[in-house]
Amino acid sequence: ALGALALPRAEQISANWKGTSATGASTKNFIGGEFVESKTTEWIDVHDPSTQTVLTRVPQATESEFKDAVDAASQAYKTWSRTSVVTRQKFAIELQHLLRQNADAIANSIVLEQGKTLADAHGDLLRGLQVAETAIGITSTLIGEKLEVSKDMDTEVRKVPLGVCASIAPFNFPAMIPLWTIPMAAVTGNTLILKPSERDPGAAMIIAELCQRAGLPSGVLNVVHGGVPTVNDICDAPAIKAISFVGSDRAGKHIYDRGTQNGKRVQANLGAKNHAILMPDANKNLTINSIVGAAFGAAGQRCMAISVAVIVGDSSAWLPGIIERAKALKVNGGFEQGADLGPLISPGAKDRVIGLINSAEEEGGKILLDGRNIEAPDGYPYGNFVGPTVILGNTSMKCYEIEIFGPVLVVLQADTLDEAIEIINQNKYGNGAAIFTQSGATARRFETEVNVGQIGINVPIPVPLPMFAWSGNKGSVLGDIGFYGKSGINFYTQNKTTTSLWKAEDAIGNRASVVMPTHH
Ligand code: NAD
Repeated sequence: ALGALALPRAEQISANWKGTSATGASTKNFIGGEFVESKTTEWIDVHDPSTQTVLTRVPQATESEFKDAVDAASQAYKTWSRTSVVTRQKFAIELQHLLRQNADAIANSIVLEQGKTLADAHGDLLRGLQVAETAIGITSTLIGEKLEVSKDMDTEVRKVPLGVCASIAPFNFPAMIPLWTIPMAAVTGNTLILKPSERDPGAAMIIAELCQRAGLPSGVLNVVHGGVPTVNDICDAPAIKAISFVGSDRAGKHIYDRGTQNGKRVQANLGAKNHAILMPDANKNLTINSIVGAAFGAAGQRCMAISVAVIVGDSSAWLPGIIERAKALKVNGGFEQGADLGPLISPGAKDRVIGLINSAEEEGGKILLDGRNIEAPDGYPYGNFVGPTVILGNTSMKCYEIEIFGPVLVVLQADTLDEAIEIINQNKYGNGAAIFTQSGATARRFETEVNVGQIGINVPIPVPLPMFAWSGNKGSVLGDIGFYGKSGINFYTQNKTTTSLWKAEDAIGNRASVVMPTHH
């Protein structure tokens, strides 16, 4: 999609963030405007999931490096929070331009470290780039409110920044998720500490370098690497006022609990199980393409993947078509021409997905298409590949209850629309759900009665563009304020109200009033 915009050629990234220590390539921290090699003794290897080659290693940042980052962010906050909104807007304008110019470099890094296909990696960036683009509107979206509440008395509401904020990212969208937070936090006047996923930090590092080139002053964005110890440091640091988290339920619950107990504002986007209802009247081609694309794209490693298809009525009308098109998808290394899905992120993730398919078989599910033992693609004997898998199952199976996060579609059958909606509403997650139908009345009922936050009508992955906000619900989120859009502005600001009275000298009486003012 980015290519269609006739972009200038990708510029060469300086790769200041890449280290070369005695034991191989490393990824630096970014603290106070400098890319600095960590002094840690604990490193985490980053693998190419198509080959297992070690690409780089990320440090488990030391306590003192973390403290340096918090100090740099606190120092930078003093001046950044006082810059004019137009200066901050200019940063977003420059950033979106640089992201476009360097799209190829970012996408290549994503394919290498995360494994998704090149076209999909461009989509990953595009969805983040769109957040930077909407952040340009900050000169309008930050406008406050003012009302004359009484004679000569005004109340004014300003949206002011929070301070130092933190963003903790997952592996599956290495560009999009850091970009959900960096532009929004920065244009609202905050400073940020980003902890990318330790499994694919490269895109975040390129973005950090581009932020610097876009004119972001030193210390406004800092990147520290690591696993749980860095996360806990973020939850505990008194200077950090808010945390944005995207990732698994387990980590999100921990971060939400620990962060809020320490008085921080926390927004946490968690796991999902997204259902699509297939009505008998739905357009065949559109529906099958949509289900297969949304179930198996990115090897199912999307929080908005369709992982459950609920067929209302006769499933024999749908299953052969779904299986045929799923079978036709090419599993291959992400850089290969024609690849439809790449590998899973790690051998552990592959084992876990295969284990869940096995459990479905043990529980009486029918494996209609089996991707467990697919032949390794040419040239990739060691990749973490699992092929598209379709399971005819039911709601009491483990493969239905747990988020699989792999290329697996569980198919359920329902007799009526009511039954299908009830299945979705009983599910603990609430990220998204879709319906495929040609009936407006059916779509309307679904939209009204289904309890999830993001609804698709003949649209399989109904993620709102960033002028709207992320709106997953139920077990898919913790916290009240969503990412980006108006919610993003609200998350990164607090309201400050000023009430002022300006009276003419001769209108001021000579007696003090002790009753509550009634604003006549
Ligand atoms: P993850 O929870 O393993 O990792 C996310 C971040 O949390 C990483 O930075 C990691 O270092 C840290 N972390 C991991 N385990 C932790 C722990 N026990 N305690 C504290 N911190 C921990 O998630 P992941 O595997 O990288 O990402 C996949 C998950 O993210 C899926 O569940 C997916 O649905 C979810 N996700 C949700 C959304 C959304 O918007 N709802 C978007 C993308 C991904």
